[in-house]
Amino acid sequence: MLHEMSWVEAKEYFAKADIAILPVGSNEQHGPQNPLGTDHLIARAIAEETAKRTGTVCLQVIPFGVSSHHKQFWGTIYISPGTFKSYVKEACLALNYYGIRKIVIVNGHGGNLPALMEMARELREKGIFVSIFQWWSAANRLLPDLFKPEERGHAAAEETSVNLALHPHLVNLDKAVDEEPRKHTAQTEGIILPLDTVNCTGSGVFGKSTTASAEKGKKVFEAIVNELVKHVNLLKRAKIEDLMQKPRV
Ligand SMILES: [Zn+2]
Repeated sequence: MLHEMSWVEAKEYFAKADIAILPVGSNEQHGPQNPLGTDHLIARAIAEETAKRTGTVCLQVIPFGVSSHHKQFWGTIYISPGTFKSYVKEACLALNYYGIRKIVIVNGHGGNLPALMEMARELREKGIFVSIFQWWSAANRLLPDLFKPEERGHAAAEETSVNLALHPHLVNLDKAVDEEPRKHTAQTEGIILPLDTVNCTGSGVFGKSTTASAEKGKKVFEAIVNELVKHVNLLKRAKIEDLMQKPRV
């Protein structure tokens, strides 16, 4: 962990490595059973474990993200996409000042993705390669049969299971509910609406959460960390020139 090193130790690391891991998340409602910190707590745990297994430096998690769509549920701390993008970008540029040119962002909250993608494109122009890992997409592919589609929604069984595996004392499974998300009257195929969570669910849970278990959560955690370890090792070996933009054809 970068913040646990002295500047002398940091200098030694930066002198021989060009890669770092940065977890980002959010502080937002995750149903009545999960902590508000779910997205940044999970991102942090994945990032720290991957850092340990690959000998890569890991930064502190950035806890607040783009989640104004959850604000009607108490305790959601939401940051605008522009501010979030600038803040994460400046953290990446600070790393670059010490020679880091490959940054793996472990993103715990889907709402952060558009801002992170914009930032990653801008930084690639400057010679910094940023990749973004989202654990639920990986879990979907790696363990397709572990959860049903209705168990994979926001605050549903999959996410609750990972919380149970990582920090069971913060989960109150007795409070878990199953709620089928409501459809807005304007909803139709191919249409994307700027809705808030409160338009779709009263509990904050999208789907089925009562089937969560620590055992399933452990399987997810192990599978996604293995996958991310592969990615970090691949980036370590990659030449920076091969990761940069190509010249005009
Ligand atoms: Zn979440």
